[in-house]
Order: sequence, then C-alpha cells, then structure tokens
Amino acid sequence: MKALITGGSGFIGSHLADRLLSLGHEVLVLDDLSTGSIDNITHLKSQPGFSYVIDTVTNEQLLAEMIDRSDVVFHLAAAVGVKLIVEQPVHTIETNVHGTEVVLKHANKKKKLVFIASTSEVYGKSTDVPFREDADLVLGATAKHRWAYACSKMIDEFLALAYWKERKLPVVIVRLFNTVGPRQTGQYGMVLPTFVRQALAGHPITVFGDGTQSRSFTYVGDVVDALVALAAEPKAIGGVFNIGNPDEVSIRELADRVKAATGSDSQIQYIPYDQAYEEGFEDMPRRVPDIGKLAKLIGYEPKVGLDEIIQRVVQHFREQ
Ligand code: UDP
Repeated sequence: MKALITGGSGFIGSHLADRLLSLGHEVLVLDDLSTGSIDNITHLKSQPGFSYVIDTVTNEQLLAEMIDRSDVVFHLAAAVGVKLIVEQPVHTIETNVHGTEVVLKHANKKKKLVFIASTSEVYGKSTDVPFREDADLVLGATAKHRWAYACSKMIDEFLALAYWKERKLPVVIVRLFNTVGPRQTGQYGMVLPTFVRQALAGHPITVFGDGTQSRSFTYVGDVVDALVALAAEPKAIGGVFNIGNPDEVSIRELADRVKAATGSDSQIQYIPYDQAYEEGFEDMPRRVPDIGKLAKLIGYEPKVGLDEIIQRVVQHFREQ
C-alpha cells in the first residue's frame, strides 16, 4: 500500500509514517511545517519507500499529483491546539475547511480512500459521557473562538460524509481523543507536554480553571494501531469512529502524577481560564470516549495506560 500522509511531519503523522514503513508500506508525506517539525521525520529520510515534500495541501497541483501516486490518504494536516485556535481563528478555520475541501476534491477523481482526522472537540460542552459517535454535538456561541475548531472539523465531517453519500468516495472519519506521546510539543496548548516540561524545569505547573475538568488521554501508538486496522477494514468506509482511551483523569490529578513521575518540586499554580485563554473562555468539564463501535469492528483496545504514557513523555523530554 502507498499512503499519503498530509501533516506527516507532525506528532501523530510522523508516528503513523513510522508504523506504515515498518509494516512494509510506502509513505509520502506532505507537510508545510507550520506546526510539524522536520526533526520528526529526519530518521526516515534514508528509509526505502519514504519520500516527503515540504509544501501546503492548498498547492492543489502538487496535492493532486501526490494523491494520484497513493492508494490511501491520511489527511492529518490541520490547525490544532486550543491556544493556536484562540489566537489565530482565521488561520484555523481556513486551514481546516479549505484543506479538507481540496483533499476530498482530488481524492474523488480516482476514488482514493481518505481518512479525515476529526476530534473529540466536536462533542463540545455535552455532558452525556461517554460520548458515542451518534450523539448530539453541543457547541457554544460563535463569539467564543474555541468553538471554531469544533465547527471547522464538523464541516470536514459533513463534507466527507457527503462525498461518500453522493459520489461514493470511500471515506473514514476518526475522532481523536487527546492523543499524547513523544514528539508532541506543548507549544500550542497541549497539557501533558506542557506539564512535563514545567515539572522538569522546576517551573510552576499551570493548571487552568480549578483542575476538576477531566480528559481521557490516548497513547499515540494506540491511535496508530486503530488507523492501520481501520485502513484494512472495508466495513469502516462511510463510518465515524471515536479513537480514545476511556480511562479518565482530572487535570489536577494529572499535574500530581506528572510531579510524582518526574520527582519535581514544582508548585501547582491555578490560573483562571480568562487569563489562560481569553475572556469568557469555555472548557468542557469531562471528555470520555465510548469506544464500543471501534472495539466491535476491529477488536480495538488501548494498550498503554496513563502512567506509562507519562513515563515515555518524560523520557522523551529528558533525551532532548
Ligand atoms: N490545561 C491546563 N494547563 C495547561 C494547558 C491545558 O490546565 O497548561 C487544561 C485545559 O484547560 C484543558 C485540559 O488541560 O482543560 C486539556 O487541554 P489541552 O489543550 O491539552 O486539550 P483540550 O482537551 O482542551 O483540547
């Protein structure tokens, strides 16, 4: 199989590239390095079956050519990270909507299988946990920029499902739940790498809000397992799947566990949301995936638990 990974120099994309190559597949990467890093793929450059182009998915001629050379497209290129979204909403909306639009348009010419990376953020403020794929999605007002991200990904989902329904383009939508692991930077607001960096530097660990909000963190290797299995499963086509680990932890407890794992004596500092992000910022209190649909189709079960994830992330930062 020949796979095109848009955003292949990013955190998740580069782990997917590693795995596909190790399974003997060919990998093409298209990445503009806006949030990804060339360091994530440097070790792959000499590997047979690997090639990459540094450019944007909106270079349509190039994109069309690369899709033409592939059997499957993993469209991971996107504006991600709550901090980035709040600070650059125009960039977020344009990148996420237009990028997916052109990927689907060109994939449709020869009906190439497309994976659309969506997000658990689409469940928004819903409190109906665990979240099932067919549940209602509950977003806040348009004046609150955070929701632009969920909304842009919802448009991506609608468009992909429309291509499937109306034009028989094979698509699979995956909603990723707080994916974490080595190579993720805390630059765009992701909590785990931020806490680990702070703890290792002896700086205050910044918990936003009162820290009772929870998340379910998924190891990047578990996400990659699910993507690879779904790509080999024809029954996945036209479906929407949560990919996550239902093990839930509060952000306050996460801070404690990072502190313990690093042996750090950092203080835990509580910062109001208004200061951390913007006036009137809304967070979701809980976010837990229902992974029954994925388990039923591909026998999916997350393998790496939170303590092991923290260890691996700590190790990664220590090695840097
Ligand atoms: N968070 C935090 N301190 C940080 C960064 C994030 O307390 O330095 C909180 C954030 O407010 C949210 C949770 O950690 O409640 C997860 O944030 P992240 O940006 O990783 O992902 P999200 O789930 O919000 O998309």
